[in-house]
Amino acid sequence: MTQFSRRHFMTSVAAAAASSTFLSQIGFAQDPVVDAQAKVKNLKEKDPNRERVSWKLVPFPMKQVRLGDGPSKVAMEADRQYLHSLPPDRLLHTFRINAGAQSSAQPLGGWEAPDCELRGHYAGGHYLSAAALMYASTGDEDLKKNAEVVVAELGKCQTALKSGYLSAFPIEFFDRLRERERVWAPFYTIHKIMAGLLDMYVLTGNEQALEMVEKMAGWVAGYTGPLSYDHMQRILSTEYGGMGEVLSNLYAVTGKGYYLHLAQRFDKKWFFDPLAEHRDELKGLHVNTHIPQVIAAARYYELTGDQRYRDIAEYFWDEVVSERSYCTGGTSNGESWNSDPGKLSAQLGPSTTECCCAYNMMKLTRHLFGWNPDPRLMDYYERLVFNHRLGTINPEDGTMMYYLPLASGYWKTFGKPFDSLWCCTGTGSEEYAKLTDTIYFHDDDSVYVNLYIGSELEWPEKGIRLKQETRFPEEQGTTITINAKSPVQLGINLRVPYWAQKGSVKINGTALPVFSSPSSYLSLNRVWKPGDKIELSLPMNLHIDSMPDNQHLEAAMYGPLVLAGRFEEVTKEMSYGDYEPKPGDQKKVPDIVADAGKPATWIEPDAKQPLTFRTVGQSEPVTMVPLYKMIHERYAVYWNVNIKPA
Ligand SMILES: [Zn+2]
Repeated sequence: MTQFSRRHFMTSVAAAAASSTFLSQIGFAQDPVVDAQAKVKNLKEKDPNRERVSWKLVPFPMKQVRLGDGPSKVAMEADRQYLHSLPPDRLLHTFRINAGAQSSAQPLGGWEAPDCELRGHYAGGHYLSAAALMYASTGDEDLKKNAEVVVAELGKCQTALKSGYLSAFPIEFFDRLRERERVWAPFYTIHKIMAGLLDMYVLTGNEQALEMVEKMAGWVAGYTGPLSYDHMQRILSTEYGGMGEVLSNLYAVTGKGYYLHLAQRFDKKWFFDPLAEHRDELKGLHVNTHIPQVIAAARYYELTGDQRYRDIAEYFWDEVVSERSYCTGGTSNGESWNSDPGKLSAQLGPSTTECCCAYNMMKLTRHLFGWNPDPRLMDYYERLVFNHRLGTINPEDGTMMYYLPLASGYWKTFGKPFDSLWCCTGTGSEEYAKLTDTIYFHDDDSVYVNLYIGSELEWPEKGIRLKQETRFPEEQGTTITINAKSPVQLGINLRVPYWAQKGSVKINGTALPVFSSPSSYLSLNRVWKPGDKIELSLPMNLHIDSMPDNQHLEAAMYGPLVLAGRFEEVTKEMSYGDYEPKPGDQKKVPDIVADAGKPATWIEPDAKQPLTFRTVGQSEPVTMVPLYKMIHERYAVYWNVNIKPA
């Protein structure tokens, strides 16, 4: 294990600052991974230690994708409105106090309150990432300016704190961490701030942010350097999230190998070893701070070529998705995995499926898809987008959820705008700012349409624009129009989802005689002329997703959508402010009497209203709508389905 002295490190940081002007001139592709891969082509000979594994397909830079009308844009705009509501002075308050500067701003509350040990995670971290991502997705200059103010003022705080340390809480928290005394999660918070600064550099070109994050890395090296391997492993028992991820990305962006060595000091042996040996020892773990460690493993694989890290990431993904996820794609209960693989039916409660876990699993999925473009990965990604992400931001005011309860008879609770600022507010703020990042991937000569979201893609290298018009999932298909100055040879690969049994496609009004099977890409390779139009039809059907350990506990789905039974509206007080409803507040919902696995025997579509259904042949009829559309009502996702007594 490489160890650093602070003096050695700070010299390197000074050199880094000097070379950062050069780095910015290479230009950035708005994604640490894409960015590093583009650069590696230029720098291969000079710097052989960069990305060793190329993604087979890569995303387009977010600035080349713009959302069109539809539910995703509604979510993004709600998030944008929320980000604009946060004044820089309030965000900076606790950082300034911690740096000994004056601040008369009204402090934020919740997890940003001046006495909360996690303060700074949102204000100096997620906020910067979200603003940078939103800028990449929309070109919102005003939001970028606010974030630049925050970076510049945080820079003053960092200078005042000396040594490269930057936080809204005192450095003594790290003494407590070293001594194994009680402290919440100081490295978790530092990771968010470092990631926010790095995103500001990568996505908006903020040079100062890169200098600041390198100084922070210098401080981290100075702190961890004197610690023995065993001591460091003990420290890793306290939540530290994505330290390995951000330090790897810092290496990818700067090409300085010592950041990668520093990243790997955050490898938690007792977590990685069983995964590398394909053993599920996830029971009892805190979910949201372990997924980012696997994202770090994915980055180590990409940066070192070490297959063991790929094994860790792929085995982990398979296990979480196939054995530890619910119908929405969400995972965790009360923030943890509490059961053996596949034992989920007793886990349903008011605090199932923390939103951060969906965010982090989606990030991990993109890496796996880059290595191996398996449509199954995008089936899972789509499941999360339309059931767990669109449904957990309040479209009215941009407030966000912590847990998405999956036990029937509860309701959705949203944070307060200035007085919650949970971890999930942070990851949510980022998520809805980056809905542009996965819709389209590409290789040298073809584009992959992964998600059906109204949007426009610009591919200047090919002289082509694709316009996707759809209100999917409220529409069962999409229309893609090709805009180009002249005809262009190109493969257009359309994802046929796992749930699409009988799709069809037309080009310029003429139906193609062939289609592709579920969970595959339909390849259309030809010379496209300006104005060519592809119409893809993906008929949705009812199907059942039952609990792996109880076939009679069923969730009904329609195409990609989890359907939820709608019950009475809840009060405003019930909707806002709490992490989750309390267990005693559950309302009993009726059991369903029907044959297991046959949704058509108890659910009928409402002919008058799209995406609306009702139960039939039951003691009381229940209206069912997609879970993501449920905002202020009690709902039921999983039903006890019992066969009618003879
Ligand atoms: Zn969270």
